Amino acid sequence: MKIPFLDLGASYRELKHEIDTAVSRVLDSGWYILGPEIDAFEAEWAEYCDAKHAVGVANGLDALILALRALDVGPGAEVIVPSNTYIATWLAVSAVGATPVPVEPNPATHNIDTTRIAEAITPRTKVLLPVHLYGQPADMDPILTLARQHGIAVVEDAAQAHGSRYKGKRIGSHGDIVCWSFYPGKNLGALGDGGAITTNRADLAEKVQVLRNYGSRVKYVNEVQGMNSRLDPIQAAVLRVKLKHLDDWTERRRTIAELYTKGLKDSGLILPHVPEWANPVWHLYVVRSTERDALQQTLAAAGIGTLIHYPIPPHMQEAYAGLDMTADTFPLACQLANEVISMPIGPQMERQKTADVCNVVCAAD
Ligand SMILES: *Cc1c(COP(=O)(O)O)cnc(C)c1O
Repeated sequence: MKIPFLDLGASYRELKHEIDTAVSRVLDSGWYILGPEIDAFEAEWAEYCDAKHAVGVANGLDALILALRALDVGPGAEVIVPSNTYIATWLAVSAVGATPVPVEPNPATHNIDTTRIAEAITPRTKVLLPVHLYGQPADMDPILTLARQHGIAVVEDAAQAHGSRYKGKRIGSHGDIVCWSFYPGKNLGALGDGGAITTNRADLAEKVQVLRNYGSRVKYVNEVQGMNSRLDPIQAAVLRVKLKHLDDWTERRRTIAELYTKGLKDSGLILPHVPEWANPVWHLYVVRSTERDALQQTLAAAGIGTLIHYPIPPHMQEAYAGLDMTADTFPLACQLANEVISMPIGPQMERQKTADVCNVVCAAD
């Protein structure tokens, strides 16, 4: 048996002709920075996300950094982040000189526990930064209410949530700015790095547009100290092709997730919990086991690839040793890090293979 965690080559091969044609179009055009391909993708991505504006940037981390910069978040400011996210969420806060203030997850959904946000808010809090982890939306209504009450902005890390819906509405414009990654392994993935922000606020879209391009609107006239963080037109052309297939590919992920949920219901594992208002896109199918490492080894021995998202929470990383936090500071984040394991999932995974995975999991104990 050979079941990879995710087969990116298979994704390319399925659309090879369309993608090759799109890439050739850019190569032939002689236009390799910003330009018509970026404009077209931005319009299509904004429409897909139910947002007024989209701005393409170099990657998901930069999208977060540019969002915070557009909101004038800097030294002295605090930004509320999940304790159990991918480290990029925290790194963006640190990159602008602000302080990440972690909040523990809801143990059922693994998304930020909205009942614990209020106690983390201080007069320095400038942004609430929820993450739609594994492709499942965070509970946005309480987050937006708190933000309004305290006069603080909301930035969403939607790097795993392309197409996901909260109470029927697509993720893309609930908060002030929504940040996307098109890293190849994401649900909408480029053939290299890519990212974007979406927003309903014209002022913020314009700020990110200027900041991503050296702080310049007119060539060689620089109004602010910007970055070079532009989406590559070749990647934009690839993303335009893939966007047309995104809903289909999400449906295939849904089918696989349903098969796992049925096939693993008696496995003894803790399975994903989906609140009735959430419409997840199954970037990851994450289960929990106190025997996680043994389970991963059993699956590996059977030729089944799994990954751990994520083995070390940000506060326990050497990168954040300066915060002087211990495992006890955020015990839930640490517990999840020790127990989670992500099953193989992807649009090209054959349905029957989920049964093979379930059989191996259920036989192990
Ligand atoms: C992938 C990811 C990012 C970063 O995206 P890059 O494009 O790799 O910089 C940020 N946050 C989360 C939750 C992610 O999964």
